[in-house]
Amino acid sequence: MLVDAGTVWGDDVETARSRLEMLNRLRVTWLEEPFHTGALEAYKGLAAVAGSLRLAAGEGSHNFYMAQHLIDYAGIGYIQIDTGRVGGITVAKQVADYASAKGITYVNHTFTSHLALSASIQPYAGLGDHTICEYPVALKALAKNLTQQTADG
Ligand SMILES: [Mg+2]
Repeated sequence: MLVDAGTVWGDDVETARSRLEMLNRLRVTWLEEPFHTGALEAYKGLAAVAGSLRLAAGEGSHNFYMAQHLIDYAGIGYIQIDTGRVGGITVAKQVADYASAKGITYVNHTFTSHLALSASIQPYAGLGDHTICEYPVALKALAKNLTQQTADG
């Protein structure tokens, strides 16, 4: 099971820690954004006591260095990058390659359109072991109407 906490705990490690027993009982293996993107110490503190539960973070990264800091200092298991937010395909690929070299799994962050999904999967090129992909189950009407060719016609 994967859970997206949406930064609900800010940088409050103790409140997040109080949920660990329940999350582990439910066999949650992915906890996304328990804290704000820049709360590196909070991430590191929770990761140190999270057992088999691995933390995901990074969709709020606005540049390579923000993602690099999460990889280097936050104890996360997954770096989740929004290609449109981080600075484009080239920067996202730079993060993906850096994550791979550091033993962190690269995952895309995408929920808006086919165009965004197409851009977000480009950084996976050459990363055979990085197989988790977020994709939009249903597109917003605006996104679909702006696209001339879609998977369903
Ligand atoms: Mg999220």
